Amino acid sequence: MTIKTPITIAYGDGIGPEIMQATLKILTAANAQITPEVIEVGEKVYLKGYTSGIPDEAWEVLKRTKVLLKGPITTPQGGGYKSLNVTLRKTLSLFANVRPCVSYAPYVATKCPNIDLVIVRENEEDLYSGIEHRQTDEVYQCLKIITRPGCEQIIRYAFEYAQKFNRKKVTCFTKDNIMKMTDGLFHQVFNEIAKEYPSIEHDHYIVDIGTALIASNPEKFDVIVTLNLYGDIISDVAAQVAGSVGLAGSANIGNQMAMFEAIHGSAPDIAGKNIANPSGLLNAAVQMLVHINQPETATLVENAWLKTLEDGIHTADIYSQAYSKQKVGTQEFADAVVARLGQTPTHFKPADYRPGAYTKIECYGGRPKTQNQKQLIGIDIFIDNPHDVPADELAAKLKSIQSPLELIVITSRGLKIWPNGTIDTPYLRHCCCRFQTAKDTSKLTSISHEELIRLQSEINKAGLDVIKTENLYTFDGILGFTLAQGQ
Ligand code: NAD
Repeated sequence: MTIKTPITIAYGDGIGPEIMQATLKILTAANAQITPEVIEVGEKVYLKGYTSGIPDEAWEVLKRTKVLLKGPITTPQGGGYKSLNVTLRKTLSLFANVRPCVSYAPYVATKCPNIDLVIVRENEEDLYSGIEHRQTDEVYQCLKIITRPGCEQIIRYAFEYAQKFNRKKVTCFTKDNIMKMTDGLFHQVFNEIAKEYPSIEHDHYIVDIGTALIASNPEKFDVIVTLNLYGDIISDVAAQVAGSVGLAGSANIGNQMAMFEAIHGSAPDIAGKNIANPSGLLNAAVQMLVHINQPETATLVENAWLKTLEDGIHTADIYSQAYSKQKVGTQEFADAVVARLGQTPTHFKPADYRPGAYTKIECYGGRPKTQNQKQLIGIDIFIDNPHDVPADELAAKLKSIQSPLELIVITSRGLKIWPNGTIDTPYLRHCCCRFQTAKDTSKLTSISHEELIRLQSEINKAGLDVIKTENLYTFDGILGFTLAQGQ
């Protein structure tokens, strides 16, 4: 007797219940060996007072089953409600967002008929850490956090995925021409890990030209690995170009848990009308079947779905005079897929998930092999300067403070405004004052934390508002900070 895999089901909001019902109908008919356990998440739960959209008792079910198939969620406007997806990704350590993006021409309209790429997006770091501050009346900041273990984990996952799914190339997208340290680390780790997979090609694009190429020549990409924000944006660009926004599924993968969902939202405008396309959730369910090692069922379902598309049985969103034969509702579409279980497509390449080949990929971020020699050599002190005290005056005030540290440069929004500021009317209300133990970076020596604290205290006593500090370190003698524009 086959042991059934317990999975958690969340119907979600809007069109969620009807597309989930259609999807489960197909999975049941395909004899998927699953035992669904239902949890309630989303709008109703938010309105009961759970600001994260998930009740306490649901976590226990999730942690037991380790797999979630989730319908789309409506996040109520305002009121401090937190995105359920972000909560799930973070709490369950779902570090990889995996979005296959395929065009189904000519049955689904697209300008690029040959797209077959997979975006592997880092899911836990970057600007999505949610660390934001308002520092002055006018200035807000959001911290971009990138860690070496985080880079190693997602990049290794992308290469492992490419290897298991017989993909030929992994492409990395970063903006390391500008963010030399954070994106630079991602690119560097990509180059390091790529060497461990010599049979897989690898290349790198700056994210702006890379995104333009997704929009114009997406067929040149195979697997793309990138940071959280870029991945978020390029996933939607790729899905839009492929014409598959309503058809694509996505997986959020962790080493212990995984969540599968459609990429579209809850579509409240068409909810309850039996016209929504269930294909996005169904494709997510196919990814889930592969993940729980039921590849034969995944193959059966995907092929029946492809055959349904080819046969011109279409929901309203993809209906066309030229290629559709019958316009059907959500449940009738599911019935058409069920009727084709066991058939294979003739126009599209049939799915073929081989038994044993696709068991779940576990990836852990490595640790630095050696401990770097870390030396504290200075501090950046950010000052709120609401009365636009000119940079020369500010510098004179700071230089009058007794300290073993030397004022090296004052910058505003990364641009040098002292000494020898190059623009006539610099922005003065947010000044970063850099103090180092020596101006010449080859002569830097160590300084104590006490000395840095004393300096801040003296600056405050001089009537200046210290809003933030960043310690300046060298690592094995290499600067752990960027130089200001013009420094
Ligand atoms: P949406 O994806 O729900 O809808 C955009 C458009 O696409 C609408 O015209 C809709 O009718 C159509 N559409 C979407 N899915 C469809 C389907 N399966 N079949 C046919 N047509 C479909 O995006 P939105 O309107 O911006 O967001 C609505 C709600 O969904 C918001 O509350 C948003 O926060 C939420 N949302 C949730 C998720 C998620 O749970 N993962 C993702 C995105 C948006």
